[in-house]
Amino acid sequence: MISTISQLRTGPSFLNAYRAKSRFIDSPACEACGAAYETRSHFLLECPAWEHLRQPLSAACREIGLFGSLHVAPLLTEPKLIKPLATFLDATGRFSCESVRD
Ligand SMILES: [Zn+2]
Repeated sequence: MISTISQLRTGPSFLNAYRAKSRFIDSPACEACGAAYETRSHFLLECPAWEHLRQPLSAACREIGLFGSLHVAPLLTEPKLIKPLATFLDATGRFSCESVRD
């Protein structure tokens, strides 16, 4: 899961928007909600399919003084958010296969 997080930081190649660009898959769309592009910010912040799983992540942000909307950069770089982020990634089940292959 840590490797998934570091990939999200550097080059999120396993999200559909990026995989489609690299021709690994045909469609850049989000399979969870049908949005046109599954980008990093869509997956982490916007996808309605994962909204209920974001609550612990939002709570962890407030605990370290990040209020308001979530943003990609602190989620991926703040050490105190790694654990709740890993829990979120795990809960989505989005990377259960890819994390092994990658
Ligand atoms: Zn989505």
